[in-house]
Amino acid sequence: MRCAVVTAAGTTKNADDDNGTPEPRRGGTAADAPLPRPLLRSAVELYLDLHAHPELSGHEHRTAARLAARLAGHGCAVTRSVGGGHGLVGVLDNGPGPTVLLRTELDALPVTEATGLPYASTVPGVMHACGHDLHIAAVAGAVELLAASRTTWRGTVLVVGQPEEETLSGARSLLEDGRLYERFGVPDAVLAQHAAPLPAGTLAHAPAGGPPLMAGSVAVEAVLHGRGGHAATPHLNLDPVLMAAATVLRLRTVVAEATAPAEQAVLTVGSVRAGERGNITPDHAELSLTIRAFTEPALDRLAAAAERVVRAEAAASGAPRAPEFTVTARSPVLRPDPALTARVRRAHEALLGPGRVLDLGGSAATEDFPHYASGGVPAAYWMLGTAGAGPWRTARAGGAPVPPNHAPGFAPDVRAALPVGIRALAAAARRVLDPGPAGDREATS
Ligand SMILES: [Zn+2]
Ligand SMILES: [Zn+2]
Repeated sequence: MRCAVVTAAGTTKNADDDNGTPEPRRGGTAADAPLPRPLLRSAVELYLDLHAHPELSGHEHRTAARLAARLAGHGCAVTRSVGGGHGLVGVLDNGPGPTVLLRTELDALPVTEATGLPYASTVPGVMHACGHDLHIAAVAGAVELLAASRTTWRGTVLVVGQPEEETLSGARSLLEDGRLYERFGVPDAVLAQHAAPLPAGTLAHAPAGGPPLMAGSVAVEAVLHGRGGHAATPHLNLDPVLMAAATVLRLRTVVAEATAPAEQAVLTVGSVRAGERGNITPDHAELSLTIRAFTEPALDRLAAAAERVVRAEAAASGAPRAPEFTVTARSPVLRPDPALTARVRRAHEALLGPGRVLDLGGSAATEDFPHYASGGVPAAYWMLGTAGAGPWRTARAGGAPVPPNHAPGFAPDVRAALPVGIRALAAAARRVLDPGPAGDREATS
């Protein structure tokens, strides 16, 4: 079954309209009933606090401290400042056995929240618009669940709180500068989940043999140089705003020209910065763009085409200096390990029933999570539905689309999504860890 997806572009694709896509769950369902109330209350409290106090990439000090305190409270040995930033690692050691790594991101986005929620961001211009607060609360809850049932499993749970995911730099900092695997051991499996505008109460995995779950990306900063001056003397200036405008229009043709019709790719110019006032022609303009595709050669091809356009438009405008074209980040295509995904998926189907575990592939979203799989470490990654029943029905009826991640209106249905997120992570971890002496008695996580 293909699921219905509210795409990042805000449109609704209903691939399986009338006989499959489940409705979002409300809180208090059979699936979340076994979670102890104090555990759930504590996870919700953490979520609400983090949501109200978001921190941008590279500034996740408070967020890291809150997660560290939770992990320490559940018996983890916590190491802070791994990788030179706010990265943290919690180790829940439960004797000899496999090691499973649970990863959550810590950072928020430069977005002004417009949800109107009572627990909305208190930080002007900053919002947890990607759901990383939900991921943190879910990992804290999952660790609490695992710690409370440690007689039923053996091994080590390694929790990684990763800063700077939105800039696609945090995973590499942890793995390379922080020597994550050298210091804490190479895990037998790496697991992560991500909030998505699918029905709350569902999970989604990449189908076996299907497209990758997420695209790879190339992030670019380009600087176009002109000649500044008085706005009333255009004949003496060389306007970089005009150069930038022409460049943006031409860049938007790159995907059409450089990809085959069946190939999926995206090139978006997300930021254009030039000048201060209407009566001054600035001397330069800056563009930020992201390129997304599902193979490394396609990423290379599109990046080369984008650079050619930027340089050619500058030359065509008579720019006094060649533009700078800098690749600032690159993330690999996210293709979860098929065997591990199959095991995790079975755990999720046992948890929620097969009807609430969906297939999803080909999202043009991107992640730096694939770096954790470097060197052949098996990694599984799934989407956690967050769309509430009301917004979902409205979107299905042709009304306003469910606000996707990164939108000012992004508002996960926490009561429905968080319990599933906690249990999905704990259940997946258990599939990797050794069942302990009382392992066959565990049933609910
Ligand atoms: Zn994001
Ligand atoms: Zn995210």
